[in-house]
Amino acid sequence: MSGSNASVVIGGGIVGLATAVAMAERGYPPIVLEAENSLARHQTGHNSGVIHSGLYYRPGSLKARTCRAGMKAMYRFCAEENVPYRQCGKLVVAVDDSQLPALATLEDRGRANGVVLKRIGREEIKEHEPAATGVGGLWVAETGAVDYTAVTAALARRLNRLGGEVRLASRVRTIKRDGKDFVVGTPRDEIRAARLVNCAGLQSDRVARLAGLTPQVRIIPFRGEYYTLRPDRANLVRGLIYPVPDPALPFLGVHFTRGIDGVVEAGPNAVLALKREGYSRTDISLKDLSEMVSFPGFWRMARKQWRTGFDEMRRSLSKARFAASLQRLVPSLAESDLVRGGSGVRAQAVGIDGRLVDDFQIQTAPGMVHVLNAPSPAATASLTIGTEIADRILADQAPAPVTTGNRSRWVVGL
Ligand SMILES: Cc1cc2nc3c(=O)[nH]c(=O)nc-3n(C[C@H](O)[C@H](O)[C@H](O)COP(=O)(O)OP(=O)(O)OC[C@H]3O[C@@H](n4cnc5c(N)ncnc54)[C@H](O)[C@@H]3O)c2cc1C
Repeated sequence: MSGSNASVVIGGGIVGLATAVAMAERGYPPIVLEAENSLARHQTGHNSGVIHSGLYYRPGSLKARTCRAGMKAMYRFCAEENVPYRQCGKLVVAVDDSQLPALATLEDRGRANGVVLKRIGREEIKEHEPAATGVGGLWVAETGAVDYTAVTAALARRLNRLGGEVRLASRVRTIKRDGKDFVVGTPRDEIRAARLVNCAGLQSDRVARLAGLTPQVRIIPFRGEYYTLRPDRANLVRGLIYPVPDPALPFLGVHFTRGIDGVVEAGPNAVLALKREGYSRTDISLKDLSEMVSFPGFWRMARKQWRTGFDEMRRSLSKARFAASLQRLVPSLAESDLVRGGSGVRAQAVGIDGRLVDDFQIQTAPGMVHVLNAPSPAATASLTIGTEIADRILADQAPAPVTTGNRSRWVVGL
């Protein structure tokens, strides 16, 4: 498949696989190069597993638009591919009167994004989640739960059926240009391709630099740590219970999620990680650290966010503090109900001015598309993001013949 008309997608997470499938459906099945020995080993395999409805995002943003369309596409895909999911609904709880204005703002934002939601009072909170307590809430019936690793595996199977290929243990180390072609080097081989898509998550800024770009943002890793509820206390939570978010930092705020496997997770927090793939507190990479501290945007971000960062760090170090945040939502929860769980690392793009890039950021250059910021809800939105990337990278291509069963049809898809 390597050659002057081949396509390469770098990264075997959900965004890379969704993009590869969308390209294959347009008649250009790519080779997916994944650094690890299996798919979905980083953000895609370490998240809350929520199919988001589009409640939080600025109306008109890429996040708002792709989350709504992506949620619907995700439910459809899971049904088609027999991936288990549960449309369990989500409860957002205002714990006291001071949070009611922010709840009203969230309600307006959700409605502006087309989210089907219901404003509820104290009693109705109990009807949905008997152990939760609050003065008011929002009920979002469309929200659901899924295992995104299983979705990624199903995408890989679909890619395979469409003629694409996944190569594992293939970390991209070099990208050279030869005329209009790219020559992509991994420890295993060199692949010649006409098109290149970078979906490398925590490494996406580095891959963009390998490809000769100078991205205006740098990836700063933020670890999100979880506890799980002891199995005999998991009945405290039926589905998904969330606090009212801080509009400036909506990804903060620990919440409860009952996964598709029935395990209830509590978290995640957000602490600076000292390694891009640093899943535990002791993981440190001198290379990652020195790159981070030599980036002026890091220090500007630190000056703006030091208080929040300090609070998150204290909550990370103290189980009692973590439990106290959760007890605001579910007062009968005891610290002893919590067992330390796993963690995930968010690839958060930060600008030179220290701004946390809020929206998805996708940069196009001749023959290339680079996904430079795809934090939550990018797993939910992945199928729609993939479609949009495929449309961009194939924008100047002639329609390709696609074989569907024994029929041949032309797909333009632009
Ligand atoms: C704690 C946490 C909770 C979250 N909760 C949710 C949620 O509930 N719902 C939701 O919608 N989203 C959630 N998200 C966000 C979601 O997980 C991500 O937006 C999504 O998984 C991003 O997918 P990706 O494919 O871009 O990145 P990744 O899954 O990180 O994939 C990138 C891949 O690129 C590979 N790679 C890197 N460098 C190279 C290289 N040089 N060569 C080849 N391969 C390379 C990596 O090994 C990796 O497999 C959460 C994220 C975190 C961290």
